[in-house]
Amino acid sequence: MTLPGGDRPEGVACAAPAHPATATFVADPFREILDEMGAFVFATDLQGSYVYANPMVLRLLGRSLQEVLGRTFDDFIKLAHDEDHAAIDRRVLIHGEVVSREESNVIPDTGEVRTYWTIKRPLRDAAGAISGMVGVSYDITDKKRLENEVAEQKALLAAVLDNVDALVYMKGEDRRFRYANQRAADAFGLPSEQVVGKLDGELMPSEAAERFWRKDQEILASGQRSVSEEAMQGRDGRMRHYWSVVVPWQQADGSRAVIGLSTDITELHDLKEELQRQARTDALTGVANRRSFQEAAQAEFERSRRYARPLSLMAIDVDHFKDINDRHGHPVGDQVLRTIAQCVQGSLRGNDLLARTGGEEFCVLLPETELAAASELAGRLCQNLAVHAAFSGLGMKVTASFGVTSLVAGDERFDQIFARSDRALYAAKQQGRNRVVCLGMGTGAGQGHTD
Ligand code: GH3
Ligand code: MG
Ligand code: MG
Repeated sequence: MTLPGGDRPEGVACAAPAHPATATFVADPFREILDEMGAFVFATDLQGSYVYANPMVLRLLGRSLQEVLGRTFDDFIKLAHDEDHAAIDRRVLIHGEVVSREESNVIPDTGEVRTYWTIKRPLRDAAGAISGMVGVSYDITDKKRLENEVAEQKALLAAVLDNVDALVYMKGEDRRFRYANQRAADAFGLPSEQVVGKLDGELMPSEAAERFWRKDQEILASGQRSVSEEAMQGRDGRMRHYWSVVVPWQQADGSRAVIGLSTDITELHDLKEELQRQARTDALTGVANRRSFQEAAQAEFERSRRYARPLSLMAIDVDHFKDINDRHGHPVGDQVLRTIAQCVQGSLRGNDLLARTGGEEFCVLLPETELAAASELAGRLCQNLAVHAAFSGLGMKVTASFGVTSLVAGDERFDQIFARSDRALYAAKQQGRNRVVCLGMGTGAGQGHTD
């Protein structure tokens, strides 16, 4: 069997047709197209024997046209995966089906397995009877390998991104999410495929969405990555803290986006806050310690001076505390200190600051408070302290002495106020304890006494 058109070096048919089916293939304009098509093109008769094969088929078979005509594909090529390709051909040749499918074969010379997308359809004669089959195959081996590589890389990326301890997302300049890993999706309470396409405002409170968007715009405008700590309310209502790295990203289609990697550092953040709180706090009583008191007092002193606002300071020292320790033991002494701290704290306003500044010494900073009001408060505390401590079941009366002073025109450093309150306290001790002594401008000292 020959192809019409005869034999050429590349097997291009050009002699007169010897088989009826070849007639459908060999009209010159079409033959050239088929020969150059970049696909395997072939035709067979009803027995599956070649009546036409384009140069690509011949190259694959490693034969000339003369050698393949009249023979079947199976005479040359072993099919991969035991494919029953004869059965497929029967569907086309006997039942007239058009079959499109992926198939693989083994290249004889190299043993390499290649994959094709093949379309086979019946050829019919003028009367409509099936006379053979025409097939076109595209080699999709490289495409498939690329597809597999891409799929593998995607799976790898997904496995990595879903298992890193961070929220990873991509958000477009249209404010719509383009990607969210499992953790990011969990944070939004949605499956990740539902996060994709949603606007930021649909996924988080508008305040947070706007805040993040402002930052995204800065990143897009500057082209610079940003590293920062961010806070966002979690779905349980609890504030969560993130360490966020956000980078600008240009997509293949030219559109811009940001990629964010946010690590949940809430536990670390809370721990840091707790450590900072502890560093500011007196461990025994839970009120501010001396260091944090000095910082706050300095700031308040400067603010009061700048805005000419009143500021008072009260120094408190427990009377004969050594005796309490000696008689009842140190742990009871500690309990007295805790009770006094609670008692004083309970009488203060929100902006007042109580601190334990020494062993059995406390200070109260009273912003926006004139000396008279501070003195009155000290008087109340002086009375309450005795009552309160008696309540604590100590069976003894605990009293304290109070030195009160206020910011005056000549004060240039907080130390000066502090020293004055100390002098007032000393005066209270001198005058018999369990009393309040006030030191205003100059030397005038008012005093109160409670027994
Ligand atoms: P005064 O009325 O003059 O203030 O007499 P005082 O005994 O209170 O004063 P003094 O300064 O002589 O004694 C203070 C005592 O406070 C001595 C010290 O052992 C005790 N103290 C200091 N810090 C603590 C503490 O954290 N716990 C207890 N239980 N006692 C403390
Ligand atoms: Mg003391
Ligand atoms: Mg004392």
